Amino acid sequence: MPNITEFDTIAAISTPVGEGAISIVRLSGSEAITIANQVTSGVDLTQVASHTINYGHVMDPKSQQVLDEVMISVMRAPKTFTREDVVEINTHGGIMATNLVLQTLIGQGARLAEPGEFTKRAFLNGRIDLTQAESVMDLIRAKTDKAMHQAVQQLDGSLQHLIKHLRQEIMDVLGQVEVNIDYPEYDTDEITTQMLLEKAQAVSQQIEQLLQTAQAGQIMNSGLKTAIIGKPNVGKSSLLNVLAQKQRAIVTDIAGTTRDVIEQTANVAGIPLQLIDTAGIHETTDQIEQLGVDRSLQSLQTADLILLVVDSSRPLDATDQRLFQLTQEQKRLVIVNKQDLAPAWDSAALPLTADDLTPVIISATQKSGIDQIAAQIKQLFFQGIETSQTTAVVTNARQVGLLQQAQQSLADVMSGIQAQMPIDLVQIDMTNCWNTLGEITGETAPDELITQLFSQFCLGK
Ligand code: GDP
Ligand code: ZN
Repeated sequence: MPNITEFDTIAAISTPVGEGAISIVRLSGSEAITIANQVTSGVDLTQVASHTINYGHVMDPKSQQVLDEVMISVMRAPKTFTREDVVEINTHGGIMATNLVLQTLIGQGARLAEPGEFTKRAFLNGRIDLTQAESVMDLIRAKTDKAMHQAVQQLDGSLQHLIKHLRQEIMDVLGQVEVNIDYPEYDTDEITTQMLLEKAQAVSQQIEQLLQTAQAGQIMNSGLKTAIIGKPNVGKSSLLNVLAQKQRAIVTDIAGTTRDVIEQTANVAGIPLQLIDTAGIHETTDQIEQLGVDRSLQSLQTADLILLVVDSSRPLDATDQRLFQLTQEQKRLVIVNKQDLAPAWDSAALPLTADDLTPVIISATQKSGIDQIAAQIKQLFFQGIETSQTTAVVTNARQVGLLQQAQQSLADVMSGIQAQMPIDLVQIDMTNCWNTLGEITGETAPDELITQLFSQFCLGK
């Protein structure tokens, strides 16, 4: 664990701009309390007990003009998020007053924090590891309760613990190998390679399991890019509204006149769906008959999931057939809408492929059958992976990339042993695996990576 490092004092507004009546200006660093004290009246912050909330006013130190009436939390190191002295000023005079407070603090020697800098300090001061820092970011961006739950769990350090455990096992075996090499009088070669091989296999298996959680983790985190397609008037906008549970798209009776919001998020039984470019897709479907395959249909190829909607009250036609054909290579769910009306065709008429799951029969206007959509999406993407249990889950591409790299090193260990390579070469591969795993938690992460990672945060976090 790194030692507490002395940094300058940073300040930022740590609540989302324009939301709520109260904003928080956060200060962190060895001068946090002194600087806050210079701009407040009503209480001597240098004398108050730690972890107390104090009433006062923020004043312009030069003009002595009152800028805002505030509540000031004083938290002394090390029991704070950054492990430094932290002051949080709760302002309630709106964004203008909050900005003035921030500027006044900067005038007294605080520096405006970079995005993610508070969390970065928590990391650099050994309060959290990289997987936990990433969870803070995930938490900020969480789109559904489940995604948030997952982020909270990570914040708890479940992935960190598993990785640390694996690294310890690798370290133990490497230490044992060293001992064996140091005593060559015993003929230990075979035992040594056998030991390395078994460890490589065991660790590899655990990493494999972890990688299997990755798809689920990433979906929970960033959402499934979902396109709702279908010919005009099958009920795409109605379905979108039901899924998004907001009346944001405009539903009309006239074919082709719908104009939808470009992007929305829907929470379908805890799975975040990123509904993409619905307006564009409307136009595309309208043009299919005239133009054949439109170029803009290629945007469909980037979707993770296609919800292909057909209308059971009107005959299936060439446009429906064409859409089935165009999406047959993709993960799709066929949705038969308007089950409340008299059917115009039999379900056997659907041109399904062997990959299609059972079509979901719904009525968008009556909101029936919607739960079945979630069940089928789980079937398509999660295939038995339980995401809500208390195991470690991999949530982002960086972690996946490093796990794959570690897996490669282990494969090298195993093939090296098979090929009877010198033991010191095999040791190098095993050490590479140990290093790569350390990058996941930040124990062996290079500086540039850390800088780049934290720069993705929002201001004030
Ligand atoms: P889009 O063009 O595919 O987006 O279709 P819309 O969502 O705009 O719906 C077209 C028309 O079908 C509207 O009048 C809807 O009210 C109606 N509609 C949509 N879903 C249903 C349904 O499940 N049952 C019935 N009876 N009408 C529906
Ligand atoms: Zn529509």
